[in-house]
Amino acid sequence: MHDKTLAELARSLDAGEFSSRELTQHLLGRIDRLDGELNCFITVTFDQALAAADAADKSRAAGKAGPLTGLPLALKDIFCTRDVRTTAGSRMLDNFISPYDATVVEKLATAGTVSLGKTNMDEFAMGSSNENSHYGPVKNPWDLAAVPGGSSGGSAAAVAAGLVPAAIGTDTGGSIRQPAAFCGITGLKPTYGRVSRYGMIAYASSLDQAGPMARTAEDCALLLSAMAGHDLHDSTCVARGVPDYTEELDTPLAGLKIGLPREYFGDGLAPEVEAAMRDAVKAFESLGASVREVSLPHTHYAIPAYYVIAPAEASSNLSRYDGVRFGHRCDSPSDLIDLYKRSRAEGFGDEVKRRILIGTHTLSEGFFDAYYKKAQQVRRLIRQDFLDAFEEVDVLMGPASPTPAFDLGAKKDPVSMYLQDIYTIAINLAGIPGMSVPAGFVGNRPVGLQILGNHFAEARLLNVAHQFQQATDWHRHRPAFAEENA
Ligand code: GLN
Repeated sequence: MHDKTLAELARSLDAGEFSSRELTQHLLGRIDRLDGELNCFITVTFDQALAAADAADKSRAAGKAGPLTGLPLALKDIFCTRDVRTTAGSRMLDNFISPYDATVVEKLATAGTVSLGKTNMDEFAMGSSNENSHYGPVKNPWDLAAVPGGSSGGSAAAVAAGLVPAAIGTDTGGSIRQPAAFCGITGLKPTYGRVSRYGMIAYASSLDQAGPMARTAEDCALLLSAMAGHDLHDSTCVARGVPDYTEELDTPLAGLKIGLPREYFGDGLAPEVEAAMRDAVKAFESLGASVREVSLPHTHYAIPAYYVIAPAEASSNLSRYDGVRFGHRCDSPSDLIDLYKRSRAEGFGDEVKRRILIGTHTLSEGFFDAYYKKAQQVRRLIRQDFLDAFEEVDVLMGPASPTPAFDLGAKKDPVSMYLQDIYTIAINLAGIPGMSVPAGFVGNRPVGLQILGNHFAEARLLNVAHQFQQATDWHRHRPAFAEENA
C-alpha cells in the first residue's frame, strides 16, 4: 500500500481493495516503526487521522467520494492547524496551538484527505538541509548519512520513505524543489498568489508559496486542484479560476519549445548532475520537443538579492514573537525589555537570529537605499529575464540543485549553504512556478530536473512533467530503506 501513488490509491479505494482506515492504520504503523530513525514528523495525529479516515470511508460508502477522499498526506509544520500544535520547527512555537486552520489545511480537509501529522522543517523555513530545526535533523531515506534538503525536509523524506504518499510543503527560495530533488520525489512551487498563504506561518511574505510534494506529477496535479484558489483572507492571493490540473496531463509534447539557461549549466554544477540533465533533455527531444539555449543574464545576482529581501521581510514578520502574546516566554522577566530580549534569545535558533540581524540592518534608515531598495530593483531585472525567455520558449529546464544531497554536518558556514539555492531562488523572486522531478542518481543519491514556466503555467508544467514520467521510470525507484522495511 505504501508504495502506491495517490492516483493508484484512489483506484484501490474505489475498487474496495482496502478502506481508508486500513490504509491510514498501515501508514501510521510505518511511522511508528520507522520515524524514530528518520525524524520526519514533529507531531503525529493518530486519533484525528483515524477519525478522518472513518469519515472518508462513510462518504465513499454514500457515493460521495471525490478524487482525494480518504487519501492520507502530511502537512509541513508551518501550516496552522486548529487543535494540533504548529511549531514552524522553532522552540519559539513549541507550545503554540492555532485557533484556526490555514486555508490550505481547510481546503485539503474539505477534499476528504486524511492528515497523518505535521512534518519537520528548518526553523521558520530558513535553511536548505533541515539541520536548522529545533526538533533535530531529518535523515534522507536514500542514504541515512545525507540531508533530505530543506526547508521542507520532513515532507520530502516522509514521501520517499513510504510513510505517506504525499505531503504539503512551502517554498520561499527552493524549499519544495530542492528537498524533492534530494529525496527523489516530485514537487511543485506554484505561481506566487496561486495558493492562499493564510494560516501559513510567514517567513518572507512576497516569496512564500505552498505546494504539493508527491511521487508523481499526476499526484501533484490532484493536490494543486484542491489547494489553489482565491481567498479573501490573503490579499496577495489571485482571483483567478482554478482549472482541473489533471485535464492537460496527457497532451503530447510534440512542438514543445524548451530553453536551457546557459547560466544554469556553468561553474559549480556537478558533472554527474549535468549528465543526468542532458539525458533528461534527450528524452524530451524524443517526445518531439525542440531545445535551444537561452540566457538569464542576471542569475548571478539572485542569491545576493534574495539574501537581502528575504531577511528584511523575515525581520519584520518575526517581530511578532515578543514573548507577550503567544509563543515562548522567558521565566520571571525583570521588566518589559528583559522579557523581549530573553524570550527571543531563548526562542530563536542561530540561523533565525542571523537573518533577523541582517534584515534589521538592511532596513535601517542609513542602509535602506543601498540594500533593500537596490535588491528590489535587481529583483525586477531578474523577473524580466524570465519574461524575455518565455517570449522564445514554453518552458525552461535545468538542475534543481548543483549537487545531489550532501552529508549531514557537511556545510558549516552559512554562505556555502546559501549557495545551494543558486538554481531555485530566482524563481521565487520572479514569482513564476517551478517543479522538480526525479531524473537520475549520483551513486545512491537522487537528482532532480527543474522545469520552469511562465506565471500561471502550472497546467503546462504538470503536463510536461507527467509526459516525462510516462517515458522514464526515475520516479518509480524506491530507497533501500523503504524496501528493507516493506
Ligand atoms: N534555502 C533558502 C533559505 O534558506 C530557501 C528556504 C525556503 O524556500 N523556505 O532561505
